[in-house]
Amino acid sequence: MAILVTGGAGFIGSHTCVELLNAGYDVVIADNLYNASEKAVDRVKQITGKDLKFYKADIRDKEAMNEIFEKEEIESVIHFAGLKAVGESVVKPLEYYENNIAGTLVLCDVMRNHGVKNIIFSSSATVYGDQKPPYVETMPKGECSNPYGWTKSMMEQILTDCAKADSELTVVLLRYFNPIGAHSSGKIGEDPQGIPNNLMPYVSQVAAGVREQLTIFGGDYPTPDGTCRRDYIHVVDLACGHVKAVEYADSHKGVEIFNLGTGTPYSVLEIVHAFEKSTGVKLNYRIGERRPGDLPDSWA
Ligand code: NAD
Ligand code: UDP
Repeated sequence: MAILVTGGAGFIGSHTCVELLNAGYDVVIADNLYNASEKAVDRVKQITGKDLKFYKADIRDKEAMNEIFEKEEIESVIHFAGLKAVGESVVKPLEYYENNIAGTLVLCDVMRNHGVKNIIFSSSATVYGDQKPPYVETMPKGECSNPYGWTKSMMEQILTDCAKADSELTVVLLRYFNPIGAHSSGKIGEDPQGIPNNLMPYVSQVAAGVREQLTIFGGDYPTPDGTCRRDYIHVVDLACGHVKAVEYADSHKGVEIFNLGTGTPYSVLEIVHAFEKSTGVKLNYRIGERRPGDLPDSWA
């Protein structure tokens, strides 16, 4: 029996495949390589010394998904596949709703037709909206500030309704805070196309001389040093959380929500200074305008 990992060639997916293989699970990846390379799949095999099955497939393609479920003995699904750039989602809402929501509908339908009863879903702390942190799983969801966030909120609702309709279904909703870092082998990591949207890849590219200067978005927030605070979690810790979620799903039914964060926030300036201290590289940065939609604080 295997775990199907949609989006398994991506940043979080590839790290999760490493931890699943190390824990002894068989892994099948379905990824359309829209934001990833098959190299990451080879690197996962190199790191673990284990084999896995890779399908270049779009989760919206029902025929392709049916074929995977027919060929492989899938026991559980970890669903990472989706578009994730917040700013782009504001400009291209239809593409985001189409890829993320339609893809999830096809996946759930194919799972149902093949009697697969466990799904672990990549959600986000963004579903809490602008309530006051710390964010706790028992809080109601809030208003999202962009279409990407709404796709996560809607997909949580769709999966919850599927579990209401099928008492055999297990849905684990994992709400990630800010995943950063890379596998200690250095063979896989975050490799965004074009200009990075997220803080850590931007910082790394400035340190590496790929970009000239980091702009810190806002220095006048109501936080101790005026810059926004976030809950940064190492991607390998996040990946291990998925292995735990697979174990949890094996012995529970219904819907469960788990935050994946550390509970400790750090400001942008603290991150910049910690990066400088650990690498010995001075970062060229300036304090710029606030970025629209950013919250001052977010932590688990
Ligand atoms: P990523 O872009 O590296 O990985 C997503 C993968 O899905 C990519 O490999 C991409 O090629 C694939 N994909 C996209 N659409 C697909 C489709 N229709 N069919 C098949 N494959 C498709 O992103 P990531 O950072 O690894 O994020 C993984 C998941 O976690 C996403 O759902 C994302 O929204 C969610 N998430 C990420 C963060 C973060 O900060 N990185 C935070 C919260 C939630
Ligand atoms: N940030 C920044 N400069 C950048 C990218 C991000 O100052 O070039 C800040 C951003 O305002 C936020 C934090 O870094 O306070 C984390 O942003 P990121 O986009 O990585 O994650 P988010 O919390 O928005 O999901």
